Amino acid sequence: MKEYLSASTKPIIICGPCSAESYSQMQVCANDVAKAGVGWFRAGIWKPRTRPNSFEGIGEEGLLWLKEIKEQFPLKVCTEVASPYHLELCLKYGIDAIWIGARTCANPFSVQEIANSLQGIKDISVLVKNPPIPNVSTWLGSLERIEKAGCEDLIAIHRGFELGNNGIYRQSPDWRIPLELKRLRKDLKIICDPSHIAGKRELVKEISQCALSIGFDGLMIETHPNPPQAQTDKSQQLYSSTLKDFIAQLSFPSLLEKKNESLTLYRQEINDIDQKLCALLGERMQMSKKIAKIKLENNMSVFQLSRWQEVLNNMIQQGKDYELSEDFIKEIYTLIHQESIRVQTRYSKEK
Ligand code: PEP
Ligand code: MN
Repeated sequence: MKEYLSASTKPIIICGPCSAESYSQMQVCANDVAKAGVGWFRAGIWKPRTRPNSFEGIGEEGLLWLKEIKEQFPLKVCTEVASPYHLELCLKYGIDAIWIGARTCANPFSVQEIANSLQGIKDISVLVKNPPIPNVSTWLGSLERIEKAGCEDLIAIHRGFELGNNGIYRQSPDWRIPLELKRLRKDLKIICDPSHIAGKRELVKEISQCALSIGFDGLMIETHPNPPQAQTDKSQQLYSSTLKDFIAQLSFPSLLEKKNESLTLYRQEINDIDQKLCALLGERMQMSKKIAKIKLENNMSVFQLSRWQEVLNNMIQQGKDYELSEDFIKEIYTLIHQESIRVQTRYSKEK
């Protein structure tokens, strides 16, 4: 009888390299993952790369390495599939779970083809990453296609979204989308992939903790024995030898007790908004410097009363659309304007 991944009463933790690269890399990594007490091992065999002529995965040989890992270690194994052909090979090598990557998830034709090939296959778990765009229907649609094919062990993965400007992240973690998915589908487990959100090792811990605190059901974390030598995603993979300590430092809220989920979620969103506010203020001051240069060249005074009145009136009007009081706008814009005057005065003195 198959043990369902989604039926786990413990957090679901999946670790392993972004890509399978060599037999020894996979062996060392699997050993570290097993030692960390993690039960699931991941490795990309076919890699969806943005540009051609980059490493596109080791291919079928890597499935043999995964099969061996499954036999040698107390690990179940999974990899990404993007076509019925990939799935067919995974079944041939007894892979325990497959995941549908972000780019594939965004394409209903591809997902449907995989779903058609999954018809009648019961003993493989399927994980579906969110599509690159923050749209819950596309994600849900892909999950439904797999479900309609008869898959009984289905899990969603939040791996962040491509927003054009992702701030400090590689992919923006818009937590509202997975939470909306959870609201629509309470029965569905959702895990977080902090690695593709972070893009950098240093950020993986805080994103992992945030996901666990919000109530995610687990994590998929990229780990590599020697990340700087990795063929893909070298900056975000954790050193696999540090995985045990990394996991020990995370706090896993009881899976039954998720009382303050919303508070944690809203705080994380506030942090994201504050970071954007700060970046925008910085950009605004840079613009002030450019204006200072023009004022200096044209012998204009730094403070221009009519322009200040125009800015303030504009913002008082705009503030109304966002339910921001006139007093608040006056106070905040007085501060912003004063800082802008300071920046411009300093610029003029230095020249
Ligand atoms: C991956 O997990 O290595 C991967 C390519 O992920 P994503 O589909 O989230 O980009
Ligand atoms: Mn990767």
